[in-house]
Amino acid sequence: MPYQKFQPESLMMSYGHKSGMARGAVKAPLYQTSTFAFETAEEGKDYFELAYGLRKPVNGEAPGMIYSRLDNPNLEILEKRLSLWDEAEACAVFASGMAAISTTVFEFLKPGDVLLYSSPLYGGTVHFITEVLTRYGIEVVPFYYDQQPEAILRQLKASNQAHRLAMVYIETPANPTNTLIDIQSMSKMASALSTEGRQVLTVVDNTYMGPLWQHPLQLGADLVLYSATKYIGGHSDVIAGAVLGNEPLISRIKVLRTFFGSMASPFDAWLLTRSLETLKLRMEKQTRNAQRVARFLQHHPMVENVHYLGLLTEADGEQYRIYERQCSAPGAMLAFEVKGGEKEAFAFLNNLKLVKLAVSLGSTESLAQHPATMTHAGIPAEILAEMGISENLVRLSVGIENVRDLISDIEFALEKAAEVQEAEMVG
Ligand SMILES: *Cc1c(COP(=O)(O)O)cnc(C)c1O
Repeated sequence: MPYQKFQPESLMMSYGHKSGMARGAVKAPLYQTSTFAFETAEEGKDYFELAYGLRKPVNGEAPGMIYSRLDNPNLEILEKRLSLWDEAEACAVFASGMAAISTTVFEFLKPGDVLLYSSPLYGGTVHFITEVLTRYGIEVVPFYYDQQPEAILRQLKASNQAHRLAMVYIETPANPTNTLIDIQSMSKMASALSTEGRQVLTVVDNTYMGPLWQHPLQLGADLVLYSATKYIGGHSDVIAGAVLGNEPLISRIKVLRTFFGSMASPFDAWLLTRSLETLKLRMEKQTRNAQRVARFLQHHPMVENVHYLGLLTEADGEQYRIYERQCSAPGAMLAFEVKGGEKEAFAFLNNLKLVKLAVSLGSTESLAQHPATMTHAGIPAEILAEMGISENLVRLSVGIENVRDLISDIEFALEKAAEVQEAEMVG
């Protein structure tokens, strides 16, 4: 069987690394170097010509290494492996998810352009879009999960923005309530508004679902983005990001990455390469655990409502249909309302022993946090209400622990929340 035909999880231990190039080392060494020596001045000249686009690569020739802000073997190996999950032509890795997002958006938008974005988005992305992009004359327009593409299009036309639309930016499932947006119909809308000289790009932040269970590029998106800090890194010890898509788009992004200096470091790339070996194993276990935890929460008297993709049924209508079309598993992120208010939610969080009280997600250890006062603290109250983020909502990222231990930990903390509620009622 040809090597390339193996499944991504089989290729994660070796793809993109030739032992023969590294004195037989089975694992890719860490290339902790800022610069690379040329054999001859002619070779240096040749590498620069390719790097600066002064000549085209011959027969898929790999670029020669020059300087680690442009490229580094650890980045190259990581980019090759990451591309496999989404079947992407190319990938660029970054120092953080925000570096991937900001570099990508700046490459494709210019003053006068319109950016359409789904709401809610990750807090850092909202700030970047509404506070930074708007300083450069870029118009930004939000849309909501329950708005149909036809209605969005009418609104853009009515405000004279449709012909200036340059990018549709989507985050689905949305953080923290797991609402879904139909990637295919939004990318169809973007294509319909594209002209010969102006492609309207569809960009999807796939961090919340991770690279296994949803493939935006196959659903018509042009670029897929990740905070590699989350599932891809998976051990809460690296901050990094990635963007994937076709070769011409990623090449453009890499040029701007060179000038922003927003690439990942060799060591972070090396750590992520190690993380990728267990990506599928971790995500499968996390998802199985999350399914069990969600079912437990669903029947607990102190829990009002569980927002988990694995609990969607036909009664959920369009959301269920999008889930069936778009995702192949429900993932390991869930949110739920503890009966009562902030006091009860805090009692729950303060009494967890195994689950850590922390932001971030997708890691081997389970993490819980309070969106209204933590990840989404900067958002005005009326918008929080629209987003379904109440003062008793708790978000849970499920890890790989023994699931009975996780449930015991959660059960104990819910009992403590019940005690707080009873004390309030008596008082
Ligand atoms: C964490 C996160 C980001 C930002 O990534 P960093 O690695 O923290 O810069 C972007 N989008 C989503 C959905 C995230 O969860």
